[in-house]
Amino acid sequence: RPYASKLLILCSISSGGLIAYADSQSDGKMSIVEHGNKKSQKKRVVVLGTGWAATSFLKDLDISSYDVQVVSPRNYFAFTPLLPSVTCGTVEARSIVEPVRNMIKKRNGEILFWEAECLKIDAANRRVFCKSTVDENLAGKDEFDLEYDCLVIAVGAEVNTFNIPGVAEYCHFLKEVEDAQRIRRTVIDCFEKAVLPGLTDEERKTNLHFVIVGGGPTGVEFAAELHDFVYEDLVNIYPGVKDLVKITVIQSGDHILNTFDERISTFAEQKFSRDGIEVLTGRRVVSVSDRTVNMKMKSNGEDISMPHGMVVWSTGVGSRPVVKDFMEQIGQGSRRVLATDEWLRVKGCEYVYALGDCTHLQQKKIKEDISEIFKAADKDNNGSLTIEEFREVIEDIVIRYPQVELYLQSKHLFDVVDLFKDPEGNDREEIDIEGFKLALSHVDTQMKSLPATAQVASQQGAYLARCFNLSEKCKRNPEGPRRFRSGGRHEFRPFRYKHFGQFAPLGGEQAAAELPGDWVSMGRSTQWLWYSVYASKQVSWRTRLLVVSDWSRRFFFGRDSSRI
Ligand code: FAD
Repeated sequence: RPYASKLLILCSISSGGLIAYADSQSDGKMSIVEHGNKKSQKKRVVVLGTGWAATSFLKDLDISSYDVQVVSPRNYFAFTPLLPSVTCGTVEARSIVEPVRNMIKKRNGEILFWEAECLKIDAANRRVFCKSTVDENLAGKDEFDLEYDCLVIAVGAEVNTFNIPGVAEYCHFLKEVEDAQRIRRTVIDCFEKAVLPGLTDEERKTNLHFVIVGGGPTGVEFAAELHDFVYEDLVNIYPGVKDLVKITVIQSGDHILNTFDERISTFAEQKFSRDGIEVLTGRRVVSVSDRTVNMKMKSNGEDISMPHGMVVWSTGVGSRPVVKDFMEQIGQGSRRVLATDEWLRVKGCEYVYALGDCTHLQQKKIKEDISEIFKAADKDNNGSLTIEEFREVIEDIVIRYPQVELYLQSKHLFDVVDLFKDPEGNDREEIDIEGFKLALSHVDTQMKSLPATAQVASQQGAYLARCFNLSEKCKRNPEGPRRFRSGGRHEFRPFRYKHFGQFAPLGGEQAAAELPGDWVSMGRSTQWLWYSVYASKQVSWRTRLLVVSDWSRRFFFGRDSSRI
């Protein structure tokens, strides 16, 4: 390739001392052509993002087998479940973030990180085009591209405004650390504005009306945090306006927290009602201005306008531009979110994997999937398979669904025996497919589409890292265990999500939790469970200590109300 000049970028990653060479091309863009001190034979893996999915992938990946480069506009990982606490200063922003370079250091510095945004994915030529988010380098360049053998897309999602007028201009969002810091400053601003001289009570009330659009877990948690901040700290500092504060949650559905168990949803509504947080259900926001939130009643179409001092928009997420553009390229343009198969491979595109909030993985019902496998195997379409074909199909099914193997080994096997023997007790030459599917009718069949949560994202990251590690093992040991062999349709079991439950902190040292096994817990003891789970889930001892000390500081001294 014609290179106008050569530029050596020294990536002084402390322990490894690796050097990455970057060639600046005639078009002024750079291309990273080498990884490490010498040309590597390892597969090049490019990871987009440093969120839940990407960091969990990087944590578990065996980097001795891959050359890994990470691109993200954020040089840190953020523990998003504590973002609502940052909005009110219950914990500080820096306590919930972990620098990516700290994580790299733990992996002996053998991962390269570029603080940049991926602007375009060129799947045909296996390249990603990126733009630095820091600044131009000394040669005046801020764009570069990377070649990959495997690409892992984990860029998360962005806030969805549903193109409702005024939302982008006048609402706050709660997605990034900066959003939480901005909200914290605006809350204080609202109080400072409300106490200025010369205002009527009505004007003060408007300044102190906090509106939250969206009654999902994030909106509810923020409302609860704000309530605690106002009534535990701010009313003592601004006693003159303490009776003018109002918090309103607007929800289009009939209940808040409607993805939770009904008991939790009712408990939250009752608690909010006792706390004076107004919950308005069955209303759809149609526009937002600098002064008002305009809604329509879903039941009778009535228009309602509500003055506000601050609006927080928390209604769901949509695809990022780079993902939308990529979806157009690969024929997924009509979809809302990037679709993957159950091995997290992007549909319609080779060597590209997608994880976390940027994807949609609908786990099929086992029975539907088994039907499809049988259909594909039944080439003559006569409803039966030879013993040999049948054996292959069963092998494929049990690799995907270990519970089928357990089921077949259990007493239910007796149901299946008839399928193999005729009434005289002789072996059948052909096996009836419908009969076999009927025999499997009691196998557990719970499969559904996955929620956009950190739990899903991090499990997907760990799963994909395991597959990458295993695939290298397979290469080294082709005669290895059956599950590693590539003779079947897939080398690995598909991704299966394990749900460990979910929390909803409701303020006033109370929380609700939905735990596996239909177990629901609410109240003060659940808040202590929440504290212990979130402390234990921190990604490092540093952030764990910082978060716990922030909680203790708040307990002894209250929250800080300075506007910095
Ligand atoms: P993210 O964690 O958002 O990471 C995306 C990464 O991609 C970021 O590093 C970003 O900088 C990077 N990126 C963005 N654009 C580009 C680009 N163009 N090129 C390269 N990199 C890019 N989930 C739970 O399970 N429990 C909770 O209690 C919970 N609470 C939440 C509270 C809040 C306020 C929020 C906002 C979310 C919460 N979630 C919770 C959801 C959870 O945060 C997400 O599901 C999770 O972050 C998804 O992980 P991800 O890796 O897909 O995306």
